[in-house]
Amino acid sequence: LTGRQAPLTLGHEVSGRVTDLGRDTRGLEEGQPVAIDGLFGCGVCWWCERHEVTLCSEIADIGLHLDGGLAEAITLPATTCVPLPDGVSAEEGAFAEPLAVAVRALRKGRLVGGESVLVLGAGMIGISAMAAARAMGARFVSVVAPSEVRRRTAADLGADAVLDATSPHLDEEVRDLHDGRGPDLVVEAAGTSDASERATTLARKGGRVVMVGLPSAAGRIDYFALVAGEREIIGSLSHVWDEDFATAVRLLGERPLDPAKVVSARIALEDTVEVGFAAMTRRDLPGVKVLVSPWLAPTSAAPVGERQPVASQ
Ligand SMILES: [Zn+2]
Repeated sequence: LTGRQAPLTLGHEVSGRVTDLGRDTRGLEEGQPVAIDGLFGCGVCWWCERHEVTLCSEIADIGLHLDGGLAEAITLPATTCVPLPDGVSAEEGAFAEPLAVAVRALRKGRLVGGESVLVLGAGMIGISAMAAARAMGARFVSVVAPSEVRRRTAADLGADAVLDATSPHLDEEVRDLHDGRGPDLVVEAAGTSDASERATTLARKGGRVVMVGLPSAAGRIDYFALVAGEREIIGSLSHVWDEDFATAVRLLGERPLDPAKVVSARIALEDTVEVGFAAMTRRDLPGVKVLVSPWLAPTSAAPVGERQPVASQ
């Protein structure tokens, strides 16, 4: 859609403050804190006309098909800027994008209030799915992850139960925790073919499985469990601005994700490559997110995880 290719500025989980408005822009003010839904469809194809923007073959996203948020400033269409609710910090605003991915997954999975949910994976999307499921009325939410640090993060952020993905008795443990039947809805957010294969059999009979992780290798599906258990498998990609992103921003007002527990490191823009990417590949840090701010001074000498919080931006 944009005709742009790498090299591009990365960064698609972005919040910021409006510094300048285009002529005739309405609904935004200078100084206003916003989260960025930088996903564009072509607007004219069969999918876009049906408001299924994520299926547009020309789809473009900031940080992938146009310059993204790892920058001091960015120019974007005003329609991509969603004002943050009062009292929501810029740090929390940066959670809007992954939370919107979770909102879409739960909507596609047809979550009904009072249901039980199992989330596979405790990265940013898994944690967001857990928090969004609670905020959207799930009665009981458990999280499965191989990393003990990640399980602790999930529990600290409000998971009703956490389970070790490497347990040889995982199937029984999941069933026992979820009313002896299994969860009504499983959200696969680990993105591994192993977790994707497992997801189908973990849902209760008649239950739904939403695949939101992106496994790089093809996996097998237990078709007998699918057919004989009348289970459903549903795919969910990214988010649509009004249905998912605006809902996620509204949910941020309920404080579903405490930055003190979500963020594993806060770093300066200049430290992104050497410090930030290194921190993202580690699994032993509490938290699931590395926040980058152009307003922090580069302090490459300080160990990751012991950096000062972002003051106001
Ligand atoms: Zn289109």
